[in-house]
Amino acid sequence: MARRKKLYEGKAKVLYEGPEPGTLVQYFKDDATAFNAQKRDVIEGKGVLNNRLSEFFMTGLTAIGVPNHFIKRLNMREQLIRQVEIVPLEIIVRNFAAGSMAKRLGLEEGMALPRPIVEFSYKDDALGDPLVPEEYIIAFGWATQQDLDDIVALALRVNDFMSGVMHGVGIKLVDFKIEVGRVWDNDFMRLIVADEISPDSCRLWDMDTGQKLDKDVFRQDLGNLSDAYTEVARRLGVLPTNVTHATKPTLIN
Ligand code: UDP
Repeated sequence: MARRKKLYEGKAKVLYEGPEPGTLVQYFKDDATAFNAQKRDVIEGKGVLNNRLSEFFMTGLTAIGVPNHFIKRLNMREQLIRQVEIVPLEIIVRNFAAGSMAKRLGLEEGMALPRPIVEFSYKDDALGDPLVPEEYIIAFGWATQQDLDDIVALALRVNDFMSGVMHGVGIKLVDFKIEVGRVWDNDFMRLIVADEISPDSCRLWDMDTGQKLDKDVFRQDLGNLSDAYTEVARRLGVLPTNVTHATKPTLIN
């Protein structure tokens, strides 16, 4: 088979041309980066887990009517997605204080916020994805006020869904990041959830022990990242069970 054309390579994923116009193949790598790629490593199996987990979350979102780019999983590391025009923003939703917010405001990590807070960073690695107010976003034309209203509504629906799913398996959704993209149906533009939803882009804490089950394990050298992601996948029932010896060999006479 002819090798697909590579369109983009990011820190954790590669995008290839899809089989039909308007589609792409998203490949999940094992590379882990943090602190704007100053810390990097290869975590064996991470890509396989994130491919499965993103499929699981996106499929769930589709089931409750939250539009997103996922079409179908193709294999262990690849999924077919809708091509979108990415809005150059990282949309962050926070339920509990952590990370950059806790630092900036001197808040205790884990403090419950009065309500979910949605904030935006401008997607630019060279600048370290700076936090930007809505005023900047509109003035620079990255999105309109209407887009932002739609994005906040989408982000809060994702938050409710993800918080509920995680709560069901004893995990607290502290915060997460999503990206959104534009798709056109004739002249009508819609915003849909794109990129990925995985423990790479969420903070997930065990509800009882507070154990971190997300990329902070890598950022803060807290243990084996792949074990943490496997635990999330196992609790969600996402891992194929009995992968090693599903069936006993049978003697055929
Ligand atoms: N996040 C992400 N990509 C980024 C920045 C943040 O996926 O480039 C996620 C991060 O994993 C966390 C949430 O967004 O779940 C909020 O991150 P924060 O602003 O606290 O930044 P951090 O402390 O991760 O640098």
